[in-house]
Amino acid sequence: MQKFDIIVIGAGPAGSAAATWAARQGRSVALVDKARFPRNKLCGGLFTERSRAYYHEIFGQDFDLSRAVTRRDIAFWHDGTELAVLHDIPPLHLTMRLDLDNTLFTHALAAGATDYSGHAIAELSDNKVTFRDGTQISGAVLIGADGVNSIVARHLFGTPFNKDTIGFGLEIEVPPDAQNPADQPLRIDFAAATWGYGWSFPKQGSTTVGVGGLHAPNPDMKAHFSGYLETLGIDPKQARFKGHYLPFGDFREHPGRGHILLAGDAAGLVDPITGEGIAFAMKSGQLAAQAACDALSAGTPQSALTLYKTALGDMLRNLRIARRLRRIIFAPRWQKAFVSTFRRSGTVRMQYMALLAGELEYPELARSVVTRLPRYLLNALRR
Ligand SMILES: Cc1cc2nc3c(=O)[nH]c(=O)nc-3n(C[C@H](O)[C@H](O)[C@H](O)COP(=O)(O)OP(=O)(O)OC[C@H]3O[C@@H](n4cnc5c(N)ncnc54)[C@H](O)[C@@H]3O)c2cc1C
Repeated sequence: MQKFDIIVIGAGPAGSAAATWAARQGRSVALVDKARFPRNKLCGGLFTERSRAYYHEIFGQDFDLSRAVTRRDIAFWHDGTELAVLHDIPPLHLTMRLDLDNTLFTHALAAGATDYSGHAIAELSDNKVTFRDGTQISGAVLIGADGVNSIVARHLFGTPFNKDTIGFGLEIEVPPDAQNPADQPLRIDFAAATWGYGWSFPKQGSTTVGVGGLHAPNPDMKAHFSGYLETLGIDPKQARFKGHYLPFGDFREHPGRGHILLAGDAAGLVDPITGEGIAFAMKSGQLAAQAACDALSAGTPQSALTLYKTALGDMLRNLRIARRLRRIIFAPRWQKAFVSTFRRSGTVRMQYMALLAGELEYPELARSVVTRLPRYLLNALRR
């Protein structure tokens, strides 16, 4: 059986970041994925400036924007009415996940991680992975970066996510320029789903149209999506819907146990308001890898989770604030007050935009919300 310092399961943004970071520190790393790369992942592909900064920090180079579409105008809609169009916003980059994830995976192999892609796992134990072909590998630390349906989270907690709080997204691909020609803004639709929103994101070669939100209040997400497509002039009967769970605010306070760590979607690290997950996946992968390396250097692999939780402190604090704030954006009883405030207040619009672009952190937003709350409540009562 081949022995590694660290086994990383899942080679998406979280896993490839973890493997790259640990391998660059001279650790032996096995990078396991059931898929062969390039592989696709259902996603809007919005790559924010936050993602770009983390990418630079972790992979040691600038993100190549030549294969992304970058836009600086965005339109916000609600129930078929345009609320506002913002121009010259912080840049929003739209990427194809097939391409993005393959780039990240390639970095991890170049850093020295051993390639176990295309390997299906038959059995997982605390230090050992057995593949379907019977091969086994062992690792002193295990990083579960295997997405929202994580088998590592299932191994630790019996279930990969809480079905009462998980989110869900549906998407279709339409021809480029059918929805967002270059001279048109990007489009976000509040109320395209309950506790969620709809989007139309142009990419190179395709435009992704989707809805996402909490799963429990949207048992009829397909109906919401069909309605949304009709408002965009797309015949839902001609479209092939694809769906995927999204840990939309469903993060774990204890992302692992002892020497087993969870990163990215496996730990539920997705922004509860914007749905952004790529940046948090890469960052948590890096932090998990660093915690693993430090625990190994100290000769105490079991201390990895304690180190990881300390390092994740700021991210978890942000996500907690966001989860509280999202009530006043998405809760049906607040929606009219939010929409009216959004329509009237340039500051609120710019703050929402900065949030979406990854240029504003939640503590700052929370302070601003507190000062506006009395007027907001008054607005809600008037309606
Ligand atoms: C509809 C939708 C739209 C979204 N839009 C955006 C967006 O525009 N911008 C944004 O930032 N985020 C978006 N997200 C969130 C984003 O896609 C995720 O947060 C991000 O992909 C998480 O990365 P990850 O590495 O944790 O997991 P993943 O990207 O899911 O990667 C997990 C990897 O693990 C592998 N794997 C799974 N199970 C196993 C197994 N048993 N054995 C071995 N390997 C396994 C998979 O093959 C995969 O390669 C969206 C999500 C959805 C559902």
